[in-house]
Amino acid sequence: MYIRCTAVQKELPRIQNYIGGRFVSPIGGKYLDNIEPATGQPYSLVPESDARDVEAAVEAAETVFPEWSRTPAAERSRILLRIADLIERDLEKFARAESTDTGKPLALARSLDIPRASSNFRFFATAILHTENEAHVTDGIAFNYTLRQPRGIAGLISPWNLPLYLLSWKIAPAIAVGNTAIAKPSELTPMTAFLLCEVCREAGLPEGVLNIVHGTGPEVGAAITGHPKIGTISFTGGTVTGRKVAEAGAPLFKKISLELGGKNPNIIFADADFDAAIAGSVRSSFANQGQVCLCGSRVFVERASYEEFVRRFIERVAQLKQGDPLDPETEQGAIVSKMQLEKVKYYVELAKEEGGRIALGGERGPSPNDRCRDGYFFPPTVITGLPVACRVNREEIFGPVVTITPFESEEEVVRYANDVDYGLSSSVWTQNLSRAHRIAEQIHAGTVWINCWLVRDLRVPFGGMKQSGVGREGGEEALRFFTEPKNVCIAR
Ligand code: NAD
Repeated sequence: MYIRCTAVQKELPRIQNYIGGRFVSPIGGKYLDNIEPATGQPYSLVPESDARDVEAAVEAAETVFPEWSRTPAAERSRILLRIADLIERDLEKFARAESTDTGKPLALARSLDIPRASSNFRFFATAILHTENEAHVTDGIAFNYTLRQPRGIAGLISPWNLPLYLLSWKIAPAIAVGNTAIAKPSELTPMTAFLLCEVCREAGLPEGVLNIVHGTGPEVGAAITGHPKIGTISFTGGTVTGRKVAEAGAPLFKKISLELGGKNPNIIFADADFDAAIAGSVRSSFANQGQVCLCGSRVFVERASYEEFVRRFIERVAQLKQGDPLDPETEQGAIVSKMQLEKVKYYVELAKEEGGRIALGGERGPSPNDRCRDGYFFPPTVITGLPVACRVNREEIFGPVVTITPFESEEEVVRYANDVDYGLSSSVWTQNLSRAHRIAEQIHAGTVWINCWLVRDLRVPFGGMKQSGVGREGGEEALRFFTEPKNVCIAR
């Protein structure tokens, strides 16, 4: 649901597109309201760009590509390191902007989102200085080596839940290896991408290497995925949108990476370190109001410990401090949009119809303060008693809602864990090492965390199976995705 700007709101600060190193208004002159989720009120305007703005970005990116792709890696690295430093210098400004734009707690933006954005630039800035090319000797006949070259213009499309964290996770590897890029942040959370452009300019990133075009998915996103000159698409978002991106890119033979939705299992065995499992499960259920694609929204607990787990888990969740996201003490902020809030409420009602018991939460409480009286708040909600195969246990809610289900055996819980269309991540809590390895082998997910959650080493492959995506990002995988391998074969 987009909210077009009204005459009264015309005086709100305007975010601008960043094309060819300049801040520009959308060619069509149209803007959308950018709503602060904590208040439900518009606080800035975001360009409602269209295909013409994307075309201008393509021209800028195409013009500078020959120069940027030939720029020595050491120089590209230096500029990216400078970007990382400047994000760190402006951490407070970025964190406040991210919190205001998304409704996430300021403390989370300060400790996770913005430091990670800086790390993304730093990581790929140095990664390109340490890569190796393969060589293959063909017995007495030839010698082969692999050239990995930038592919041209990369289209980078990201969602609203971790705006700068995820956009920089795409921008950094794409431009580090010598591509130019056109990025489209979510229209719901455009602010930190806008601030990033200032930082890129200050860092000396040449004009046109990074272009940011703001607007909706059907207009700007579709113009990017359908543009014949944008041969590489890295997309993170929902599975339904991912399908559209694949449909648009496939006939043009684009190289596409899709990081999509999840319905991740969080499995607790009776032999787990219970304190750690409960603390970890509270985080994996409700971090960022449950709006992390990696959240463990389906908790499975071995029968022998089920009652104790539910009791202690609920006690801990009830202590989470919901409040104004800008209050540094707040642990649970607002849901990103009215539409997302309605979706969460819908699934809680559905859970009741499907036989679930609302063990905690389920209804909006009082507003944290007067400023937030119209904000999109929903309390952490815990549901028990649902059948494993019901819709609430199979469909992605992407909000502060978890279900808890008992299981009897390893074999049974693996079946439960895998019985969804998604396969993004999973957590297993057990002290039994052999069991941990056995389960890790059997679970259909791109990531299996054992006795932890959201430990993210930037070198490891990241992505999903089944409807959670196609391809992997992170470390070497990202460097490979954003380059074209060319075999050079020399006869002896
Ligand atoms: P979304 O799919 O609605 O939007 C994602 C982006 O795609 C936005 O920028 C949007 O404007 C754009 N878009 C929409 N329609 C498009 C189209 N037709 N063509 C091109 N682009 C289009 O997702 P969302 O609601 O912003 O984010 C939530 C979803 O993202 C959840 O499903 C979540 O699991 C997923 N997610 C996945 C990961 C991951 O790494 N796998 C990470 C974060 C979020």
